[in-house]
Amino acid sequence: MIQTIRGFRDILPGDTDLWQTIEKTASALFEDFGFQEIRLPVIEKTELFARSIGEATDIVEKEMYTFADRKGDKLTLRPEATASAVRSYIQHKMYAADPVKKLYTIGPMFRRERPQKGRYRQFYQINAEVFGIASPYIDAQMILMLNELFQRLGLTDLKAHVNSLGCPRCRPEFQKALTAFLASKKEGLCSNCTRRMDKNPLRTLDCKAPGCREALADAPSPLDRLCEKCTDHFNTVKTVLDQQNVDFIVDKNLVRGLDYYSRTDFEIQTSALGAQSAVAGGGRYDALVQELGGPPSPAIGFAIGFDRLVEIVSQLTTKQEARGPELFIITVGAGSIEKGYLLSSGLNLKGVRTEMDFGQRSLKSLMKRADKLHARHVLIMGEEELDTNALVLRNMTDRTQTTISADDALNELLTRLGH
Ligand code: AMP
Repeated sequence: MIQTIRGFRDILPGDTDLWQTIEKTASALFEDFGFQEIRLPVIEKTELFARSIGEATDIVEKEMYTFADRKGDKLTLRPEATASAVRSYIQHKMYAADPVKKLYTIGPMFRRERPQKGRYRQFYQINAEVFGIASPYIDAQMILMLNELFQRLGLTDLKAHVNSLGCPRCRPEFQKALTAFLASKKEGLCSNCTRRMDKNPLRTLDCKAPGCREALADAPSPLDRLCEKCTDHFNTVKTVLDQQNVDFIVDKNLVRGLDYYSRTDFEIQTSALGAQSAVAGGGRYDALVQELGGPPSPAIGFAIGFDRLVEIVSQLTTKQEARGPELFIITVGAGSIEKGYLLSSGLNLKGVRTEMDFGQRSLKSLMKRADKLHARHVLIMGEEELDTNALVLRNMTDRTQTTISADDALNELLTRLGH
C-alpha cells in the first residue's frame, strides 16, 4: 500500500468542515479591513527565498525542498508566502495606481523540519500583508485583527508577544553589542550558533538548544538600543494596543526565524499546543520590497499556522455528526433506476442533498444503507409504486410516511422538504 510521505498528511472529509469555517471567518474579517485575496504559486525560483529569508537561517540552510527541474533551473517549494507576495507586488507593479495594497492568501507551505505534533513538512498558513504604510497604527491594527480572529473562533488562552528589532540605523549598534556578548559566551553555544554568530548573530536569539537558551538569558535586547524614531514607533504600537484592549506583553528577545524583519515583530502564543506554542507570527519588513527590486515601500505582514489553529479550535468544539443526505431514494427493480436517477439529480440541482443507490439491491438492504448514512428522509420508488403513481416518502426521524405522486415528484418533494 502506498502511503503519504513523512510529515505530509491528508485532511479528511469531516475534518475539512472546520478548515472551511476558519477560512470563511478569516476572509470575512480581513475583507472588512480592506484586504483582497491573492493566490500565489507554490513553487518559485530558489533565489527568491534565499535572498529574502536570509542565507544563514534554518529555513534556507536546512529546511527547503529545493530541486533542479528538467532544464536545470533551481526551484523551491515555498517555505513561506511573504517572499512570493513581495515578488508579486513588484512584478505586477501593484504600487503604480496606489502604493497601498492589502493582500491575504491561504495555502500550503513546505519545510523539511522534524515532524511532531503541530509541526508538519507540508503545513498551511493564512497570510496577510500590507504594502505602502509605514505608520505604527497599521502594526497595531494587524495585531488587533489577529486578536479579533482568534476571539471570533472562541480562543481564549492566547497572548500577543511584541518586540522591536530596530531599523538599519540602530540595528548595527545592537548587533555589535550582541556579537561582543556572544564572544563572551562562546563555550556555552551550540555548533550552529558558534558558526552563525559572526554572520548572523540575531539568529542565536531564537535558537532552541537548552545550552544556548541559558547562555543567552541576559543577552542584550534590540529594545535597549532603539533609535528615537524606532522608540516612538514602538511606543505608539503599545499605546494603541492598550487603547484597543489587546492583551500583549513585550518580549525583548523575540526575533523570529527570518532575516527580513525590521521594527515591530510579534507572535501569538498559546499553551494549548505543548511545545509548538506559536500560532501566528509576523512583523515589519520595510526594506524587503526594495531589496527584491521594487520601489522603497514599507510593509508588514503575518502568518497564522492554520494546522495549529485548527488543532486549538477543535479542542474547544465537539465534532459535528457527519451530515447525512436530506433524501435517500430507494429504487427497486431495474425499471426504476433511470427515473430515480433523473429525480435525484433534479433535486441536487435544486439544492436538496439527495443520494441513491445504483446497485440492484433489496428494499431491506437499501433501508439499512439509508439508516447508516443518517438520511433524514427516504423515498421508496419501486416499480410497484411507479405503476400506482404513489411513491412512499418516509421521515426517518419520526418514522411517519406519506405518499406523493410520481408525476410531479420533484415539485412535491421540494415543497415537503421545505425548499
Ligand atoms: P513563520 O512563517 O516561521 O513566521 O511561522 C508562522 C506560523 O506558521 C507559526 O507561528 C506556526 O504557527 C506556523 N508554522 C511554521 N512552521 C510550521 C510547521 N512546520 N508546521 C505547522 N505549522 C508551522
